[in-house]
Amino acid sequence: MPSVILKPGKERRLMFGHPWIYSGEIAKLTGEPADGDVVDIRDHKDRPHGSGLLNRKSQITVRRFTAGKEELDRTFFRKRIDAALAYRKTVLPATATSFRVVWSEADQLPGLIVDKFGDDLVFQALTLGVDKRKGTFIEILRDLFKPKSILERSDVPSRRLEGLPEEKGVVYGKYEGNAVITVGGVQFEGNLLEDQKTGFFLDQAENYASVGAHCAGKKVLDCFSYHGGFGMFAAKAGASRVEAVESSEPANVRAHNNAKLNGVEGKIEFNCANVFDVLKAYDKEKRQFDVIILDPPTFARAKQNVDDALRGYKEINLRALKMLPPGGILATFSCSHHITSSLLESVVIEAAADARKTVRLVKTLTQSADHPVLLGVPETEYLKGFLLQVV
Ligand code: SAH
Repeated sequence: MPSVILKPGKERRLMFGHPWIYSGEIAKLTGEPADGDVVDIRDHKDRPHGSGLLNRKSQITVRRFTAGKEELDRTFFRKRIDAALAYRKTVLPATATSFRVVWSEADQLPGLIVDKFGDDLVFQALTLGVDKRKGTFIEILRDLFKPKSILERSDVPSRRLEGLPEEKGVVYGKYEGNAVITVGGVQFEGNLLEDQKTGFFLDQAENYASVGAHCAGKKVLDCFSYHGGFGMFAAKAGASRVEAVESSEPANVRAHNNAKLNGVEGKIEFNCANVFDVLKAYDKEKRQFDVIILDPPTFARAKQNVDDALRGYKEINLRALKMLPPGGILATFSCSHHITSSLLESVVIEAAADARKTVRLVKTLTQSADHPVLLGVPETEYLKGFLLQVV
């Protein structure tokens, strides 16, 4: 078996459970493996550290799949996916039909994401090693779920770092177009082939309910609303009025359809606009809301954007806090991996000080339990949020 021999000390990250080996950490590669092949991992004293998949085109040259001696074959991958599913069964309600089945490193399957939307499955192959084994994964998913269809949404720019083109399409069965999925009793229509990411953001599912619990009889502003997730839960929970602000026209159309589907059409106003402009204008007009949700897209795609991103978070949080009276609720999020929970917390503290508000932490929010976090792998945690109440 071909092996990568690590430079002295470079086994440390692996020993803390982080599965990446960067090109600069490798002293030697033995044998003649092709990119995508399995390689044994050994440290400079020839001690074994399991095995992983190689890609010399990537800065992350090896991703470890096991610390043990198992073969990385179909049986192995099936066991990993079974384990991922078993975990979901322990943390999700028994009635859940749409959830993330596999979350890459967090399920010890680096580079593979699988989402289940009712009877349809969507997967992303983010690395060459996974891409080369697509056929195997599709067979396993077919056996395990007997789905109506399996779609590939590997249309992500990061595939370029692996030397792979973006790809998407129906790889198994028949996909009928717009599918209706149910999350926490709320229905959402989506096109899993065309909508953002794998078609729907499942990572906020638990937070919809946490925020919805504060919305009965309230005036709610859902910022960056996409398909209307928070707005819909708020309306169903009995909000007196909901305004959803989203700059993408297709997302707004979808959100509008979703409102019809859930019988709350008259309760939600859809505002196709830039949240920054809307908050500025409402702040000037001294408008007030009871509940405001801020769920912006990634402001910091790279480490060097963190300062700009923090200014963006500060601005929206400041304006939102100014519009909340005592008792008002702010649900504020960041989905940027580079913005840690403590960075977001500092921004909110500064925003509250500038807005002359005192805020109480009602609940710390994170990605739903079907997007688990591995403590040794910070990259598995990306969604941070706080549910706050103005005192
Ligand atoms: N809250 C949503 C997910 C939000 S994702 C949910 O629960 O599903 C971020 C959304 O912000 C995307 O739909 C994107 O189109 C939108 N967006 C990005 N920049 C924006 C801006 N400046 N103003 C309004 N919407 C914006």
